[in-house]
Amino acid sequence: MTLSIRVVGVGDAFTARYYNACLLVEADDTRLLVDAPPALARALADLGSRGGPTIGLDDIDHVLITHLHGDHMGGLEQLLFWRRFVTRRRCTLHAIPEVLAGLWDTRLRGGMDVLMDADGARHPLTLDDYADVRAMPSNPADVHRIGALELSWRPTVHHIPTSAIRVAHGGAHFGYSADTAFDETLLAWLGEADLFAHETNLGVHTPLDRLAALDASVRARMRLIHYPDWHDVDDATIASAREGDRWTL
Ligand SMILES: [Zn+2]
Repeated sequence: MTLSIRVVGVGDAFTARYYNACLLVEADDTRLLVDAPPALARALADLGSRGGPTIGLDDIDHVLITHLHGDHMGGLEQLLFWRRFVTRRRCTLHAIPEVLAGLWDTRLRGGMDVLMDADGARHPLTLDDYADVRAMPSNPADVHRIGALELSWRPTVHHIPTSAIRVAHGGAHFGYSADTAFDETLLAWLGEADLFAHETNLGVHTPLDRLAALDASVRARMRLIHYPDWHDVDDATIASAREGDRWTL
């Protein structure tokens, strides 16, 4: 009955040190990958070298894409090509309607929408040829079920449409901010969870000092993610997620 979260990557868009931020949520027989960053197969394989079972591209049943920035979805083509052409096992893609609307047309189709034979014949493909696609409810208050998980979402403050999520299973709740500016209402929503991962970074992101000023009870349930390479992961003000961490709720 436990809800388990494994930390696949913790880095930001520019990291030269980590994998990009990515989480693997597991409950019963359901396994949900939250975002699909570049070098996905290697990031998943490295989970095995960090004390947990090895995860391969075939072990991902469900993928949720929080938004269309490349550090959050740049590994999706790898996953979908593998599943269609190598092992022929479909997975299910989840995202809010605004993300799904651009996923194929603005990010994936350039390398995926046609197969050309040696004789020049062209065979068109769509996203539905690669995966089962399930839009999350346009109304964030509506629950989105993925196997043993119940999800809800909330828009964040970012340059493009982005969804923070909360995942529930067996009475346990986990939250993830995805990319966002500092947003007290989002923090209140995430803070209802038993544990939540929150981004921190420069620019349009959430400054660390704003999070460090929150009540100790909130900080105790927060794990920092999507931090810059120079972030001090040993600073105890708020615990930092580390690649290979497994949180069970
Ligand atoms: Zn982003």
